[in-house]
Amino acid sequence: MIFVRENGRTIPKEDKIFSISNRAKEAIAKYGKDNVVNGTIGALVDDDGKLIVLKSVDKVFKELTPDEYAPYAPISGTPEFKEAIKKAAFGKYEPKGFTEVCATPGGTGGIRNTVSNFSAPGDRVLVADWFWAPYKTICQEIGREIQTFKFFNEERGFNIDDFKANVLELLELQDSLVIIINSPAHNPTGYSLTVTDWRKIKEIFEKTPQDKHVALFCDVAYIDFAGDEEQYRQFLPVLDEMPENVLPVIGYSASKTFTMYGMRCGAMICMAKTPAIAQEFKQAAEFSSRGSWSNCNRAPQTVITKIFADPELKKMVDEERAEYRDMLLRRGKAFEAAAKECGLEMVPFDAGFFASIPMPNPDEVAQELEKENIFLVPLAKGIRVSVASVSEEKCRLIPARIKAVMERLAK
Ligand code: PLP
Repeated sequence: MIFVRENGRTIPKEDKIFSISNRAKEAIAKYGKDNVVNGTIGALVDDDGKLIVLKSVDKVFKELTPDEYAPYAPISGTPEFKEAIKKAAFGKYEPKGFTEVCATPGGTGGIRNTVSNFSAPGDRVLVADWFWAPYKTICQEIGREIQTFKFFNEERGFNIDDFKANVLELLELQDSLVIIINSPAHNPTGYSLTVTDWRKIKEIFEKTPQDKHVALFCDVAYIDFAGDEEQYRQFLPVLDEMPENVLPVIGYSASKTFTMYGMRCGAMICMAKTPAIAQEFKQAAEFSSRGSWSNCNRAPQTVITKIFADPELKKMVDEERAEYRDMLLRRGKAFEAAAKECGLEMVPFDAGFFASIPMPNPDEVAQELEKENIFLVPLAKGIRVSVASVSEEKCRLIPARIKAVMERLAK
């Protein structure tokens, strides 16, 4: 770096996923889309590789008047949006705790504001060892580090023991702790914690020192693409039962749920035990927003407000999304079945945009697959396949191809 102060950050020359994705696009231009697999994209696309945008949402957008999109929105979001986004996040569940909302630019903004407000400079933030890379970027950017716990145990379930060991270690070292749990339909594995897993997490916190503060960030970016919306919200009551020194924060993203990736809309919502805790959450989140992106985009806030104000429209949006969600679930199941058939081990998978294959040499395998026009994302401990961006037919074919490359390289 010449002018730039790295300040403890590792700044790569280029974003890894975007560069693989660019090579995939070049291959498609050269060989045609039928001959290339682009399993890198973090958005839901149709079988022809086109971004899926809900028509019902698009229509509301196009009908916005200048008054509905042009003015600044209040820093924490318009009052109507804040009510609507709570309904979007909680579904039929009515939280018992005190909720406050702060609008954020996508789910990402909520992660950033949670890390900056509920940890101290130099602290470690606890995440699973399979994690979405921007968690680390966000932590580095604001002078924090990540520490990982083993996500899975030998029985292919949530590794509550390693989670506990890491929580106890960090609570010895730090006065406060931010934990990020991405579930359901975790990126990059597709795993969803069960209600029992969440209960066990709660039981751990009942026994940890009550004078230490824990912010439990529940990254639910994929919650509306995991399966039945209510079933996948059954863990929410457990969050309400956490002890007072644990503050659950829901990180909600409108990117996937409303197919508004580029509109940068989301929210951080607390489930606090007292009004005072909720109030300080609000004040701090607004302060951080002001000091980073100021206020958020008004247009998607208006769109979401309108959807929740009109039951007919809401029904249309939900039904449209359910169709695409079922398509996504079929792709995931097809991939899983094909992996089983050819004996390719997967990281425990439930649903969602991604699945992962564990392996010791992901970079090498991904490079070889690229030679066969299969573009996937190598991570530290395996390869990520975006079933959201690959047709069901291709989902059936990829596992055997991965397996063949792994076997060839192992020789
Ligand atoms: N969390 C995870 C795990 C994600 O994969 C994403 C998007 O890819 C997000 C949060 C939030 O994304 P956005 O800021 O686009 O809403």
